[in-house]
This record gives sequence, C-alpha cells and structure tokens, in this order.
Amino acid sequence: TGKDIATPTRTKEVLEKYGFSFKKSLGQNFLIDTNILHNIIEAADLTKEKAAIEIGPGIGALTEQLGRAAGKVMAIEIDQRLLPILSDTLSPYENIEVVHGDVLDLDLHALLAEKLSGFDKISVVANLPYYVTTPILMKLLEERLPLENIVVMIQKEVAERIAAKPGSKEYGSLSVAAQFYAQTQVAMIVPASVFIPRPNVDSAVICLQVREKPPVEVDDVDVFFRVVKGSFALRRKTLLNNLMNGLFPKTQKEEVVQMLTDIGIEPTRRGETLSMEEFARLANESIRRGL
Ligand code: SAM
Repeated sequence: TGKDIATPTRTKEVLEKYGFSFKKSLGQNFLIDTNILHNIIEAADLTKEKAAIEIGPGIGALTEQLGRAAGKVMAIEIDQRLLPILSDTLSPYENIEVVHGDVLDLDLHALLAEKLSGFDKISVVANLPYYVTTPILMKLLEERLPLENIVVMIQKEVAERIAAKPGSKEYGSLSVAAQFYAQTQVAMIVPASVFIPRPNVDSAVICLQVREKPPVEVDDVDVFFRVVKGSFALRRKTLLNNLMNGLFPKTQKEEVVQMLTDIGIEPTRRGETLSMEEFARLANESIRRGL
C-alpha cells in the first residue's frame, strides 16, 4: 500500500503535483502526522466487519488509514478540485468510495443504505472543517443515523463544551444536546503543528459513543430542547428569570415558581446548574401543566 500520505514530504509532493492551493473558507487544514492518525483510528475501534464515513477527506491522509482498518469507507468531499487527487492517492484501496457533495445537504440515510448496506456497525471518523463543526455534529446526531460512534478532530473549545458537566463554565445547550444523544469524552488534545496550514486554534479529538436511547425520559424532544435553550438564554440570570422572559411569557410568575418548587428545582438557581435529568423533569412538567 506504499508510503503514508500523512507525512510532510508526501503531502507537499501531492499538493505540488496538482498545484493545489488551500481554501480557508472550506476549513482546509490537512493532517501530516501518522501518529495522530493511528490514535484516531484506535479510538474509533474499527474492524473489517465495520464501515466508516469520513467527512472531508482532503487528499486522503485519514481516508487511507480508514481503508486499512475498516471493511468499507465512504468519504464525502465538497471541494471538486480534490476529486482527481483522491482518485490518484487512494487508487490502491478498493474499499474506499468518494462522494462529492456538501455533507449538510446530502441525504445521509439514503447514502448509508446505498453505499454501506450490510454493515450494522458504522463509525464517523473525520478531521472536521472547523467552520461547520456544530451543524455537522448536530445533523449526525439529530437524524438518528445508525452510528456506533463518532470520532472527530474539532476545535478544543468546542470539544470541551460538548463534554462539559453541569455548573461548569463550558456547560451549555450544546453539552446537553450532545450528551442527550451520546456519551462524550475528549480523547486527546492536539497541537497545531500536526496540520498544514496550521490552524490558529487548538484542536482536540472527541469521541461520541452514540446511545441507543436517551438517558432521560422526555415526553416531547422539541419542548425539551426549547426548555434547555431557554434556560441558558441569559447566563447571569436565574432560571426563573430566563423562563419568564423567553419560554413562558404569558404565564403568571407564581405559577412558574409553584411548578419549579413542586418538582424540586430552586427557582433562584442559574440555568447552567441544571442536570439533563432536571431539564427533562422541567420540560415534562411544563407540558403536563399546559404552560
Ligand atoms: N481529512 C483531511 C485531513 O485530515 O488531512 C482533510 C481535513 S480538512 C480539516 C476538512 C476537509 O473537509 C477539507 O477537505 C474540506 O474541503 C472538506 N469540507 C469542508 N466543508 C465540507 C462540507 N460541507 N462537506 C464535505 N466536506 C467539506
């Protein structure tokens, strides 16, 4: 299978051969360190019986490692200029298929059925374009794709927000959303020196182990997330203030205080101290009381 793509020498060779210039607007920072790639692959726990989806293969640095570790790989790339490069660099790997498109526009359920049928364990493994990290992750989770895990390189700050616990500075609606659908863990912090060009933010690899069902009983997912977002709206305000301002503006204050007291949540607490279980209790009770 030849020498690895993810070395500084080989990467420069490929870029020069094709006269490729990076597009900052597409979040193009390519990995040039095989050790990091091996760690990512290991975290994804792939076997030849499993399939992998990569978002943004670039010139194929991670893709070829996925091809070696998994039974089949589907790689989705938005930048048309990379397609001829990928068919060159990935030519030794018959189990890799590149799909041209914007991952945010594609019908992933249909693509999975078409390209990865027969695989019931599927991972998403990627070095994500940082400008669209959150929309991509939320799409993967909210569409309830049949994924085993998601192992992705993202900005360190976003990784910390995703894995944050109640009461911490980083805890917010993204933490609750990610942890509703998955068990989250920051696997490693990654220095900017392993990319060309170097990004000007710190990076981290996050592992999301997708849950079969949410860890809390929620009567209406939309209401639950509206309550979560509403509770975080103004971080310095109390939960009661946030609920009165945004979520239940037409309800009497006394009624909201009564509800919170009845379900054992102190109205003067800040929204960012509530656990997922408390958000679920609050959302379910507000539906029950018709607020
Ligand atoms: N995987 C390669 C690596 O690690 O060297 C490249 C990673 S680079 C951070 C992000 C890649 O995602 C680029 O190849 C970029 O063109 C691609 N990309 C950006 N936006 C995309 C989108 N909306 N859908 C699919 N791919 C996208």
